[in-house]
Amino acid sequence: MQSPKVFAPYRGRFAPSPTGPLHAGSLVAALASWLDARAHGGQWLVRIEDVDHPRTVAGADQYILAQLAACGLHPDAPPAWQSQRSALYQAALEQLKARGLAYPCACSRKDIEGASPALATRPRHAELRYSGTCRAGLQGKAGRAWRLRTDQPAEPIAWHDRACGPQVQDVEAQVGDFVLLRADGCFAYQLAVVVDDADQGITHVVRGADLMDNTARQIYLQRCLQLPTPQYLHTPLVCAPDGHKLSKQNGAQAVDVADPLRALNQAAAVLGLPPQSGALSQALAHWTALTAVHGAQSLWGAAARRSAGAGAGPT
Ligand code: GLU
Repeated sequence: MQSPKVFAPYRGRFAPSPTGPLHAGSLVAALASWLDARAHGGQWLVRIEDVDHPRTVAGADQYILAQLAACGLHPDAPPAWQSQRSALYQAALEQLKARGLAYPCACSRKDIEGASPALATRPRHAELRYSGTCRAGLQGKAGRAWRLRTDQPAEPIAWHDRACGPQVQDVEAQVGDFVLLRADGCFAYQLAVVVDDADQGITHVVRGADLMDNTARQIYLQRCLQLPTPQYLHTPLVCAPDGHKLSKQNGAQAVDVADPLRALNQAAAVLGLPPQSGALSQALAHWTALTAVHGAQSLWGAAARRSAGAGAGPT
């Protein structure tokens, strides 16, 4: 007799960095992750990614939460703040150290820049390729950061994006041993995001295509920590009239939630969903039904693939 199929419940999340208010591009990622969760009858969480203390803007977290609420995007549990979860990241780092997978690094940014070609564009959370200088030991220098060995095993990470299809990255060759704990004492985004996605039981990650390039690093780290890998879907990016991706650094305006349906209609258009008028709740219900029927990947897959090819730029 065939045993019945057991599906893991869907748990998605939106994970903004509180470096400023939501702009049109980040609202697309928020709406997409909310719709995909609702279309699957799943849960949707919000996690404030404030591990990068120097970039955190006071009050931006509350502003973002208010913008989401005004748009009717309510999480199913109270939001989590990464700044309150350092013990989890430290425990993961200790585990990696104990297994010889993490090592201290004395190299300064200047040392690394000298050893690798400069990046013409800088994708979100991109790192300069690290040549592995401190893998063999600190040679008497003081450790500044902690890095993860990417040669255990040294094999390409193949993964499938629900919108963009098969992907592959050789992390060791293309990124090198990446940072887990930064020289300024902040836990790196890669470590915090992997630990949190697993700790919060996230089964589906839906986020902007400019984060595609981070996914192989995250899957590699999940394997090192023996954590499950969620399914990934990267959403289309919003471009400014000059063709560049909208970002806080290039002056993207905060989403104006005085007229939330207008803001949501703009975000929905990027996701291939038709404009709605009337009540906000009805618009969201209609888009949820369309996402459930057509599937996120067929609705916004083509646009996401275009964005993934041109996704470099700051947030
Ligand atoms: N907080 C990250 C950022 O805004 C996004 C994290 C994620 O969705 O994985 O760049």
